Amino acid sequence: MKQEENIIPYGRQHIDEKDVRAVIETLNSDFLTQGPKISEFEQKFASYVGAKHAVAVNNATAGLHLAVLALGLQKGQKVITTPITFAASANCVRYAGGEVWFADIDKKTYNLSLVATKKLIESKPKGFFTGIIPVDFAGLPVNTEEFRNLANEHNLWIIEDACHAPGGSFQDSKGVIQKCGNCAYSDMSIFSFHPVKHIACGEGGMITTNSDQHAKKLRLLRSHGITKENMTVNHGGWFYEMQELGFNYRLTDIQSALGITQLLKNDEGVKRRNEIASKYKEAFRGKLSFQDLPEGHYNAHHLFVIEVEKRKELYDFLRTHNIFAQIHYIPVHTLPYYKQIGYDGAALKNAEDYYKKCISIPMFPSLTDEEQDYVINKVLAFI
Ligand SMILES: *Cc1c(COP(=O)(O)O)cnc(C)c1O
Repeated sequence: MKQEENIIPYGRQHIDEKDVRAVIETLNSDFLTQGPKISEFEQKFASYVGAKHAVAVNNATAGLHLAVLALGLQKGQKVITTPITFAASANCVRYAGGEVWFADIDKKTYNLSLVATKKLIESKPKGFFTGIIPVDFAGLPVNTEEFRNLANEHNLWIIEDACHAPGGSFQDSKGVIQKCGNCAYSDMSIFSFHPVKHIACGEGGMITTNSDQHAKKLRLLRSHGITKENMTVNHGGWFYEMQELGFNYRLTDIQSALGITQLLKNDEGVKRRNEIASKYKEAFRGKLSFQDLPEGHYNAHHLFVIEVEKRKELYDFLRTHNIFAQIHYIPVHTLPYYKQIGYDGAALKNAEDYYKKCISIPMFPSLTDEEQDYVINKVLAFI
């Protein structure tokens, strides 16, 4: 069988001739960075998700860092996130000297539990927490409207980590379809353009927001805090001011050109991801568990996670058959760094139970029917 020789990873980028041509054209243009492709990508991305502003950065981790800074996170302030995410969702709080608090996940959706978050907030005095960073895990949109209502009661900001979910959406209580990253109910949303994610730029990220003030601050911080606007003095045409301690978190024009052509294919890719998910669900229903799809939600399916009792054995078994599954994620509070700073994970039972069983099987638009049948057969043969 052909598949026995080819490795099937859990995720893979899809680059076509159009992408290659866009990059070459940019290489032959006047600007490799700080040129017109960046704002073109930003405008197209903002309009794709339905947000007022999009600010491109060199990766989503930098995006998360700038987002907490733009929201004014101060040393010692406390922010809630999910333990089942990539470490960066929590690390951004640490960069700014804040404290990370984890609330448990929902057993069925694997997303940060609204109930657990509310319980955690209400167990502390008013004003104890500053913000919440929910994650659209595996591509399943968090119901940010519900989180907004909770956040408003306690005066908290919300950063939606939408790295898994460009193209995902949910229906709010008024029946309106809310696309991930449109910031209808969050202050800012974050996307990643790492090649395992939907849109591949090599490295890259985007912050979306509807706030003019936040967008301005993000742009200032991503480029050293240097600006030619609102200067206190002006010595001439060359003059600029460094008004804040910023960073170099810029995306290049080369990456932006690739982002533009990749973005054009995203809807098609998410559609294909949903076809693949339907076929997995049909094959596995009643035999093993997978992520729930709440009514009105459209999952962007960065990942397809199944839960199995003998997870390690399945992982090893699939590897011997050249299926490179992956585990998403080791709970962040159990990572040595977070253990050392004293996070007691005893109350995060759902996250720890989930981690014992979870395994991500191949999910990417160019996965062929033949390859998917092969994966399904191997999983079924194992269980
Ligand atoms: C990938 C990812 C990030 C970080 O993205 P980079 O672009 O690699 O920095 C942050 N949060 C989540 C949930 C991710 O999956």
